[in-house]
Amino acid sequence: MTEKRIYNFSAGPSMMPLPVLEQAAAEMTNYRNSGMSVMELSHRSKLFEEILFKAEDDLRTLMNVPNNYKILFLQGGASLQFSMVPLNLFRASRKADYIITGSWAKKAAQEATRFGEVNILASSEDSVFTYIPDVDPAKYSKDADYFYITYNNTIYGTRYTSIPNTGYVPLVSDLSSMFLSEEIDITKFGVVFAGAQKNVGPAGVTIVIIRDDLIGFAAPSTPVLLDYKTHADNDSLYNTPPCFAIYMAGLTFQWVKQQGGVAALQKINEAKANLLYQAIDDSPLFRCPVAKRDRSLMNVVFVTGDDVLDKEFIAGAKERGLSNLGGHRTVGGMRASIYNAMPVEGVQALVDYMKEFEKNHSK
Ligand SMILES: *Cc1c(COP(=O)(O)O)cnc(C)c1O
Repeated sequence: MTEKRIYNFSAGPSMMPLPVLEQAAAEMTNYRNSGMSVMELSHRSKLFEEILFKAEDDLRTLMNVPNNYKILFLQGGASLQFSMVPLNLFRASRKADYIITGSWAKKAAQEATRFGEVNILASSEDSVFTYIPDVDPAKYSKDADYFYITYNNTIYGTRYTSIPNTGYVPLVSDLSSMFLSEEIDITKFGVVFAGAQKNVGPAGVTIVIIRDDLIGFAAPSTPVLLDYKTHADNDSLYNTPPCFAIYMAGLTFQWVKQQGGVAALQKINEAKANLLYQAIDDSPLFRCPVAKRDRSLMNVVFVTGDDVLDKEFIAGAKERGLSNLGGHRTVGGMRASIYNAMPVEGVQALVDYMKEFEKNHSK
C-alpha cells in the first residue's frame, strides 16, 4: 500500500503524514476495542470526548496557547470565518482595517462589508500580490474593532515575516496555509483561524483560537451557530462536531509533538524552502516572482515565463510521482506546496527533476 505513495505538492487538501494515515487505518474498524470506528462513535461518548479534549490540549501545548484563549473546532471552512469574524467582532465603531495580500484576504474583506465599514489600508494587487505591503502604523484606524491580515498567501506564495503591532486593536489572522509550520506568538492576536486541509488533516474542521474578551458581543440577530459564544460555552459540542476530522487533526498534533514540536518543524520547513528557492534563484530557466523578503515557507511559486514549457514541466513531474505542481488557476505557472507532511526527500526529488529539465531545455 505505502510503496505507491507519491510526493503530492497540492495546496489543499494536501499531503498528510504517513504515520497518521497508517494509525487511522489500523484503528478504522475498531477504535480502542470499542467495536466501532471513530466515525460511528457518539459525539457525547467518553471515547470521543477524550479525542476532542486531547486534541485541544495537545494544540494548546504545541502553540503555547494561554488559558485566556479558547480553542474551537468548527465547520464551514476558513471561508465561514470571513463572516464569523465581522459578525462577532464588530461591536463598537463597526469599523475594521484589512490588508489585501491575495484573493483570500479580498474575499474576507468583501464579506465584512456586509456587516460594517471596511477600511483597506493597503493592497499588493497592482503587482499580482507578489509582496506584502508595508503600512505606516500612523494609518491604522485607532478605533477599529479589529485589524485583519492573511498570514500566508497560499495562491501567491507570500507570507508575513513580521506582524503589524496593532496595540489595543485585536489582530485577526487567517493562518490556514501556515498553521503549525512556524512558531508564532499567539498573544499578539485576538483571533486566528485555519481550515484543516492544508497543514492539519482532512477538510471538514476549522480551528479557531480566540481571546476570551472577544467572545459574547455578537448582535442578537446572529444565527446561534455563527456566534463564537455558542461553541465556547459548549466546548465545541453544541451540535455534532466534525468528529472524524477532529480525530485526524488530533493524530496530526501527536505527530507534530513526536517531530519535536513546531520549532523543530520550522527548522525543517526553512531547510526545505531554502533548498527549493536556491534551486530557482540559481536556475537559468526558472524564476520566482515573489519579493525575497516575503517568500512563503509553505507555497513556493515559480515560472519559466513560457506557458507551454510550464505545462511540459508539470506533466513530466507527474510522470515521476511529483504531483499537483500546477499553479492556481488564476495565476498559472508552478506552485509547490511543501507543508509539514512533505519530507525533505520530496523537495530534493523536485529539485533534481528541475535540474534535469533545465539541462534538456537550455537555450
Ligand atoms: C484554502 C484557504 C482558504 C479557504 O479555505 P476553505 O476551507 O476552503 O474555506 C482561506 N484562506 C486561506 C489562506 C487558504 O489557504
